[in-house]
Amino acid sequence: MGAHTNGTSNGTSNSVTVIGLGPMGQAMAAAYLDQGYEVTLWNRTPSRAADLVGRGAVLAPTVEAALAVNELVVLSLIDYDAMYTTFAGVPDTAFAGRVLVNLSSDTPDKARAAAAWVAERGAVQLTGGVTVPPYELAKPGASTFYSGPAEAVEAHRAALEVLTAVDYKGADPGLAALHYQLGMTVFWTAMLSFWQAVAMAEAHGLSAADVLPHSDATLTGMGSFLEFYAKRVDAGDHTGDVDRLAMARASVDHVLHTASDAGVDTTLPGAVLALIERGMDAGHGADSFSSLVELMKRQR
Ligand code: NDP
Repeated sequence: MGAHTNGTSNGTSNSVTVIGLGPMGQAMAAAYLDQGYEVTLWNRTPSRAADLVGRGAVLAPTVEAALAVNELVVLSLIDYDAMYTTFAGVPDTAFAGRVLVNLSSDTPDKARAAAAWVAERGAVQLTGGVTVPPYELAKPGASTFYSGPAEAVEAHRAALEVLTAVDYKGADPGLAALHYQLGMTVFWTAMLSFWQAVAMAEAHGLSAADVLPHSDATLTGMGSFLEFYAKRVDAGDHTGDVDRLAMARASVDHVLHTASDAGVDTTLPGAVLALIERGMDAGHGADSFSSLVELMKRQR
């Protein structure tokens, strides 16, 4: 194969460059090594490559050298700005013919701008949004949103699937980032709701382990709520036949006071209550709490 013998590009399907060795990039490189890939690495902090080099990966002396070895280049950086920092000073010609799979998280607009920047240099960007933590890579059920040219996805599908299943969203490079951020919108608020419950429990001598079973059941059961309300929301139906916003206000008020009575932070329930109050002020007290989504939408 000669990927590491002559420094020229390797277009074979079992050779990859990984740039960025945080927890995610390290796990990705390890997954490729597990599958017998030849793996070339680069990271701003070279010491993070030590374990992988011990397993047979090659640490390139420069990022330009890392780009030179393989057609397929996986980027796993903190954000898209870090890509520009990483590639500062690299001549445009070094990108020609490369497929840059950017698995760093960022906004749809940043992903689109980066795809244009990459295209100007004769390369192709695939935007990716990995939906699992590093320890779930290469396991059943792991999935990544992808967008960008479908031909590039198909040409490198086998290599992409070493990491996770491919959930292709379309040609627009921003789409994978969009789907990722929509998922993160739900993830972060749901996780913070758990921290809120744990903080409130702790004030009463209970632990996270005590809160876990019911919180788990609540979140698991959310699927049926989402299914029920998604249909109605898409139809613009906020009938208050199952729940009413006035009931939601009373309920969230109880949560807020349970927190404040215990001396616990109220930022999160306070924000929820503030949104509900806006809905009440807009006259939606007898409508479903799903009517809040209309307040949250972009106002045209
Ligand atoms: P980080 O998000 O902390 O990314 C670390 C990598 O970014 C390292 O290679 C680091 O280099 C590099 N980096 C940070 N700042 C700069 C900079 N200014 N210039 C150049 N390089 C920089 O760790 P993760 O590995 O956890 O995440 C990587 C990406 O994967 C992120 O976008 C994250 O959102 C996404 N992701 C992470 C998940 C997770 O559970 N960890 C889950 C799903 C997605 P150095 O080593 O030199 O500091």
